[in-house]
Amino acid sequence: SLTPENVTRTGYNVWLIFTKVAENSPLKLKFQNLIDNVLNVTSVPLNFHVITDSLSRRIALSQFVNVSSHAKHPFDWNFYDINEVSNIMKDIVAVLTPHFSSKPGTYYSDALFYISLGLYRIAPLDQEMAVILDCDLYFKDDIVLLFREFDRFKGDALFGLAPELSPVYLHCLHKYRLSANTTFGNFYNLNSTSGLVHPHGFQGYNSGVVLLNLRRIRESQLYSKVLSESFVDYLVEKYMFKGHLGDQDFYTLVGYEYPNLIQTLHCGFNRQLCTWWKYHGYNDVFDNYFKCTHKIVILHGNCNTKILR
Ligand code: UDP
Ligand code: MN
Repeated sequence: SLTPENVTRTGYNVWLIFTKVAENSPLKLKFQNLIDNVLNVTSVPLNFHVITDSLSRRIALSQFVNVSSHAKHPFDWNFYDINEVSNIMKDIVAVLTPHFSSKPGTYYSDALFYISLGLYRIAPLDQEMAVILDCDLYFKDDIVLLFREFDRFKGDALFGLAPELSPVYLHCLHKYRLSANTTFGNFYNLNSTSGLVHPHGFQGYNSGVVLLNLRRIRESQLYSKVLSESFVDYLVEKYMFKGHLGDQDFYTLVGYEYPNLIQTLHCGFNRQLCTWWKYHGYNDVFDNYFKCTHKIVILHGNCNTKILR
């Protein structure tokens, strides 16, 4: 298993996706803030791995160079070309986009939103574990706390994710919930707000922070099965599911079907701040999903929410 010694040996690998960035785009600022922030809070040397395009890469590079002179701990960085990455995981994207993209062929259908699922093919083989992070995060505490969660992974867990903190999956599973009593014998109350225990009361996953046990993913036969077209078709049919949030829709459905494959991190590791659903039909239940009483390590300014520290 991944003992702390193993983590040290394979390095503290932090993957980021940074594409379609222009000089004046908000994503540039988010990236700069995150790199600054992470290097300030870290107590260990970090290896950044940035998936990017040529213009975005220049912006990222200048940020790394800028901070390298005053960082408290050594760090290094590598770049990976988004076109090569997309190519290597074409098959995965082809299976998932029809079900988990809002408009296949546009924004969310980009390979961009499925990269965590194919990262095991991209990451160098000596990387046994890695985290992949959104750029719209703010660490209130040491990033090593996130890596320590690998030590708590149960025997079969391939990925670690924190819960989605909005009722988006209550929304997406509306049809299933209406018909589940009659269609499937063992109806689970998929969206009760009572807690995070599988499979009862589970509100889905958010993919802004994902831990990957790459070695187990590479070796897992079950993983190739769950990513196959026939299994994904079965899943979306069973749950009458039409999503639009890319990889996290997939993690959420896999979480219902094979809860052992995903380790549930506590909400403090991905404290989302987006309140969109509160004002779009779910005011009555929103707060039940949104609440997070754990110690907050990472804030996530999703749906462009400003992060107030
Ligand atoms: N991203 C990117 N270019 C884009 C849009 C998104 O590289 O044009 C990456 C970036 O790492 C970002 C992540 O995809 O953090 C997910 O997007 P975002 O955080 O905006 O989604 P949200 O958390 O609001 O759902
Ligand atoms: Mn985000």
